[in-house]
Amino acid sequence: MNTIYPIETGKFSGNVYLIKNNDHYVLIDTGLKSKRYFVVEKLRAFGCSEGKLKCILLTHGDVDHCGNAAYLSKLYNCPVGMHKNDSIVAVSGDMFINRRKKNPFVAFLVRKLMGMEKFKPDFYLEENQNLKAYGIDAKIVHTPGHSPGSVTIITSDGACFCGDLYENTKKPKINALIDDPVEMLNSVSKLENYNITLIYPGHGKSFLPDEIGQRAEQI
Ligand SMILES: [Zn+2]
Repeated sequence: MNTIYPIETGKFSGNVYLIKNNDHYVLIDTGLKSKRYFVVEKLRAFGCSEGKLKCILLTHGDVDHCGNAAYLSKLYNCPVGMHKNDSIVAVSGDMFINRRKKNPFVAFLVRKLMGMEKFKPDFYLEENQNLKAYGIDAKIVHTPGHSPGSVTIITSDGACFCGDLYENTKKPKINALIDDPVEMLNSVSKLENYNITLIYPGHGKSFLPDEIGQRAEQI
């Protein structure tokens, strides 16, 4: 049985989720670099001391989700996993490098204002991969659309960490930032095949699968 501790890191920063499984922990996403000490404080408050974090899983390569991956990996001496298709973002520090819609100006601003320490993931998250070896009974579903290397992590008890596939800042819906609409819809359809009890989005509060509006009207 997992205990999930959502850590909301503010308006522009992605949610961080700490999952406790018996006496160890797994972290999903890491927030913006500017939220570093807030995140570390929360991890400690939830009992995740050094040596207890098994791994860091990244739903995708955006800076508001990966901003503290390198730092926390070093602090907790644990590996970082992400999908191969977004690993180029971590290695280059450029979150538009693998996107169709490139925006050099926004890319420059993001680099300057938000900053991300470049890193190379220690392992790749792949379609259908079971994460038991990394301390959690959960599966990886490759759900591209927001970015080519976006993944969703679904635990055996139905908790669904979808990164930026869905958002719930105002209401539960498909994330407005879409790089590939066809892939995005395919990913949404794909998730319908899984037994999901609660969705934990990259931004905003958790919500029930039934709360999502009609797909067609959202894209
Ligand atoms: Zn994102």
